[in-house]
Amino acid sequence: MEKQNSDNQHCRLSVVVPCYNEEAIIRELHKRVTKVCRQAVGNDYEFILVNDGSGDDTWRIISEIVDHDPCVVGITLSRNHGHQLALTAGLNYCTGARIFILDADLQDPPELLPEMMRMMDAGNDVVYGQRARRKGESWFKKRTAAYFYRLFNKMVDVKIPLDTGDFRLVSRRVLNVLNSFPEQQRFIRGMVGWIGFTQAPIIYERQERFAGKTKYTLKKMLKFAIDAITSFSIKPLKVASFIGVIFGFFGLLGLLYVFGGWLLGRTVVGWTSLLTAILVIGSAQMIFLGILGEYVGRLFIETKNRPLFIIDNVKTHDRSRQHKTDGHDVGMLEFIHAENGIR
Ligand code: UDP
Ligand code: MG
Repeated sequence: MEKQNSDNQHCRLSVVVPCYNEEAIIRELHKRVTKVCRQAVGNDYEFILVNDGSGDDTWRIISEIVDHDPCVVGITLSRNHGHQLALTAGLNYCTGARIFILDADLQDPPELLPEMMRMMDAGNDVVYGQRARRKGESWFKKRTAAYFYRLFNKMVDVKIPLDTGDFRLVSRRVLNVLNSFPEQQRFIRGMVGWIGFTQAPIIYERQERFAGKTKYTLKKMLKFAIDAITSFSIKPLKVASFIGVIFGFFGLLGLLYVFGGWLLGRTVVGWTSLLTAILVIGSAQMIFLGILGEYVGRLFIETKNRPLFIIDNVKTHDRSRQHKTDGHDVGMLEFIHAENGIR
């Protein structure tokens, strides 16, 4: 009972995993994903590993796995593009009727796939993992993540479910819509929520990383949060007008007070209050200029219309889908590939 429609579906299931410096994990990931896919769809799947410009042995290991397993496709990008764009590259490339999105680190158990497939058989277009508990992550990470999802939902009109990541199974029709989004600043879990159709959660416990460290540094997390909010909401811009009105109101009160004092013949003393007011208003103005700058900067980036990702090499047993074979035509071929894939 597939309700997906696409011209170039090659298999029943695509598994897409972005990998950045995950050399310690790839083999175990391959083992567990292969087992669960065989169980769910036999051999009718493709397992796409996207190497996001890793500096370690990730790509070498992926290449070796491709050599031995025809179900695996390795894609390597020209440099580190970041989690969301690496995932986008894999999502553009894959051809399955259903798409299973996973992180490389096995924090989200691939073994949930059969249950997710059943939920999709029952008519859901998206089955997303929702974390009941997160093991092995720092208090700081859990708290910031929890606050972020709550703040995000206050800011935007489209609700995204709380405590979800990109771990999910999506139908081909949802992916086709997602792939048609041209934007550079991608917050994929939000975009999938925005698309709609029937979406259902599957509750699970988030495990510790199998090995290695989180690739989301505080800086990357902040960027991710700002990308998410600015690409879904213009509320931060409206806050400026709101604060302006409040400040104006207090300003008026202050003016009345000063004017009253003048009428009563009292000179108002104190440059402290004056300085405080100037500093507060000055900093508020700077903050809002900064917020405005965020949006203008994003407009600038979007208008350049650059390809979202650049593929250096694709390693697959399917000859019609191989891209670079001899290394002569990297730039042009990959550019065209990225362009065709996205815009
Ligand atoms: N990742 C990536 N590019 C990056 C950072 C991360 O492809 O620049 C991948 C990483 O290999 C992993 C997934 O994105 O498969 C999520 O990263 P991580 O587990 O470090 O994030 P966390 O679970 O700590 O939020
Ligand atoms: Mg992780």
